[in-house]
This record gives sequence, C-alpha cells and structure tokens, in this order.
Amino acid sequence: GHFNRADIVILGGGPAGGATALGLKALGYEVTVIAEPRPFKAVEGISERVLEGLRNAGFKLALANLPDPSPRVASWNGATNSANTEMLINRSELDNGICKDLMSAGVTVINDRVGKVSEERSGFSIQFKNSEADPVKAGFLVEARGRSAPGAGLERLRGSETVSLLQYWKGEPCQPQSAAESFEDGWAWMAAWSDGTRYLQLTFDVATANLPDKAGLIDHCNSILATLPSAQPFLEDAQPTGIIHARTSTPILCREAVGDNWIRIGDAAMAVDPLSGNGIFQALSSALQAPAVINTLLQRPENAALAKQFYQQRVDHLFHRFARIGRDFYASEERWWNNPFWATRRNWPDNEPLHQETDPDSLKVVKMPVVNNGLIEEHEVVITNDQPLGIWHLNGIPMAPVVRVLQQKEIEISPQSCLQTQLGMSPENAQGLTRWLFQNGWL
Ligand code: FAD
Repeated sequence: GHFNRADIVILGGGPAGGATALGLKALGYEVTVIAEPRPFKAVEGISERVLEGLRNAGFKLALANLPDPSPRVASWNGATNSANTEMLINRSELDNGICKDLMSAGVTVINDRVGKVSEERSGFSIQFKNSEADPVKAGFLVEARGRSAPGAGLERLRGSETVSLLQYWKGEPCQPQSAAESFEDGWAWMAAWSDGTRYLQLTFDVATANLPDKAGLIDHCNSILATLPSAQPFLEDAQPTGIIHARTSTPILCREAVGDNWIRIGDAAMAVDPLSGNGIFQALSSALQAPAVINTLLQRPENAALAKQFYQQRVDHLFHRFARIGRDFYASEERWWNNPFWATRRNWPDNEPLHQETDPDSLKVVKMPVVNNGLIEEHEVVITNDQPLGIWHLNGIPMAPVVRVLQQKEIEISPQSCLQTQLGMSPENAQGLTRWLFQNGWL
C-alpha cells in the first residue's frame, strides 16, 4: 500500500514533539513534524533542572537566548520565601527555537495547523487546516499536541477541573522577577519581564470557584490580585491590557498512551497541574522514552506488548509522582482547610507517600522491560517497594545477580566478601557497592 510503517509523523512541535523528533533522527529515522506556533503569548518559569533536561534532549538554538535566572518569591501558608530563582522564558520563542533545532537536524517541519486525522487500514491520513496541501500519510503517528490533543474515546484519569486565567498588564520596564502566592480560592503566579510586560495567572477550581461570566472575569481576578501582598510589585505602575486568556490546567492521565502504530507523548500523554512548574520536565521525560518504544514497535513487533508495558508504566509512574508532589504541597496550605479548592487537591490522587523507606524484604528479582541500545528488551531487574519499575544496572553493574547473592539462605561471610568471591568483584568495587546497599536500605 501507500503506507510505509517507518513514515513517522509527529503532531505538535513543543518540547515533547521536538525531543522525540531528535531522538528518532538519532536512531536513523526520517521524521516529519507538523506544528503551528502557540496561538497565545505565554511566559513560563523554568528551573535549572528543566534547562538541563532541554539540553540533554539535544536542543541548542532553542536555548541560545535564554534570560538569566531572576528572583522568585513564594508565599504559601502565611510564610514567604525568596531564596529561589527561575528563568522566565517566552514560550513562543522557545518553540520557534525548537523548530530551528529540528530543521538543522534534518527533520522535515511543516508549519501548519493539523486538521482532521483519520485512521486508515495501515496508517493515518492527516489533513491541514490552513492550506490546500494534500494530506500527509503516516505509518506511525506521534501525538504531541499538548493539552489540545484530541482525547475522545480514550480512557483517561482526570483530577478536579482546574483553570488558569492569564492577564497581560503593561508597565514600566523593570527587573525580571516572579512570585507565587496562595489565596482562599486558589493560587497566583506572577511574572514581570524587563520590557515591562506583567503576566498575572490565577488558578481556580472550575466547579466551586463561582467564577463570573466572561465580562466579569477581569474584575474578579483584579479584585483578588489587589489583596495579595506579593502581587503589588507587579501591579505598580502598570495597566491592564484588557486581555484575558484561559488555559485548562486539570491533571490528566491517558490510561492507554501507546498502540501498535501510535504513541502520545508529553502533555498529550499526561499532565499535572502547573503548580510544580515542572511541566516541561515531565513532557521531556515521556518524550525521551518514546524513540526506543517506537523503534521496538517498528523493528521488533514481537516485542510490542513489552514496549507498550514499558511506556505505560513510566507514564503512570511519572504522573503519580508529580501528582503526589502537588498533593503534598496543597496539603501544606492550612489556612483555608475546608475550602473545596484545597480540600479536594490535598487528597488526590491517593494517600500513598511520595517515597517509601526501602524494605530489604521487598527486594525481588523479576523480568521487566528495559531500554537497551535503542530497543525495549526484557531483562532481570531488581524491584523494591520504592522502585517498582526496577533497577537493571547500577554504574554498569547488573543488580539481579547481586541481590541473588545477598538473598542466599546463609551468608557465612560479609556481603562484601560474597560479592568478591561469587561475582568476582574487585575489593574496591565490592566495598563501594556494599556501602551503597546499606545507605539505600537494600541491606
Ligand atoms: P506543548 O508545549 O503544549 O506543545 C504542543 C505544540 O503543539 C504547541 O506548539 C502547539 O501550538 C502545537 N499544536 C497544538 N495543536 C496543534 C494543531 N492542531 N496543529 C499543529 N500544531 C498544534 N511548565 C513549566 O515547566 N513551567 C511553567 O511555568 C509552566 N506553567 C504553566 C502554566 C499553565 C497555565 C499551564 C496549563 C501549563 C504550564 N506548564 C509549565 C506546563 C507546560 O506548558 C507543558 O507541560 C509543556 O509545554 C508540555 O510540552 P508538550 O510538548 O507536551 O506540549
């Protein structure tokens, strides 16, 4: 037919689509990315960790003009902390830079809005919204359109419906800075850019915030901002532009994020609410796993189930980890304990602790999917109560044989000597590993 399994098309050119495109290119695939620039202006704060993730994903031009970190004030539960910094980035510029990185890596980038996507017998046909160009055919489809990726028919886990209302004010040029502050019905994030643009974002619970209709929204937001001490520097000498934009920020997890000839990555696979300011980091985490999963689906269809299991487990894990971080942060705001905004969020998604103390009795050797040379394969790994996805290697040492040695009925001599005599480890390596095993609760 006219479908070629290895014609990979990525919808969306944000951090996730971009990172997967670069990863696939490195594995030798031809890749087409269809992306339109973000339809609205957005400022986002990124930490050193997110920057590191963007660098590791292979972006260069996208990171060429990033601003220096600027001060960040956080006011939560009545306490104020101004020890942190973040980089305030213009998302349109970041996404434009990502497209440039893709083109310089040899990825085909089509600048258009994706229209209808139809599944055909052995692939997908993608129509364009803004041009008369013929539909593009994809043997493999990567859905990376972020939160706007269509999800009808997919089983999804959703947290409380959440909306972030953004306003742009115009003020005098100033030092770049940002602030976050909680209030009775939600929390605010504010940023000021050196050119004087002020970016004011209030996040609410959709069901219980009693938000007024569109005409009254700006006044409602402004009356809240007027009461927030840390908002005052952002309002001084500045005027509202009258523009308000709503972004959905409901936590959402796709229960089925991968199929035989498609995968969802980034926010299209899972997104938590923007409280942690780590959205780009999470988007990159799923996007960086995707190339090996796609490579396996295309080259080793006999391992498809394994590859899908690998990917879904990681998406679920990432979602729960960041949802629980958010939950604990909401629980630390105690002033409006009975307000539904806070009450629902501090109890969701569950009551499991973020981390568990490792219980040495929980250690088990099991077969699990791992990444090896760009493919998903099954190998023996060690799982623990705190590491359900398993550990295959530690600094190049396979861990399953180590745990087998430790779990022998009677260890007459020290664990270190056992590792030396039974696994042929050098005394230094056996000593270093034994120390690690003790420190991490494996012994
Ligand atoms: P996106 O970055 O959303 O990329 C999707 C791309 O697809 C976009 O370029 C879009 O224009 C394009 N696209 C969409 N539909 C189509 C179509 N039909 N045709 C063609 N192209 C299309 N993260 C942080 O790290 N720091 C923050 O401060 C932060 N603040 C946030 C505030 C709010 C209110 C929200 C909702 C999120 C915030 N995030 C933040 C999260 C962050 O924006 C996302 O997690 C991240 O951008 C996800 O990357 P992605 O590549 O999956 O999707």
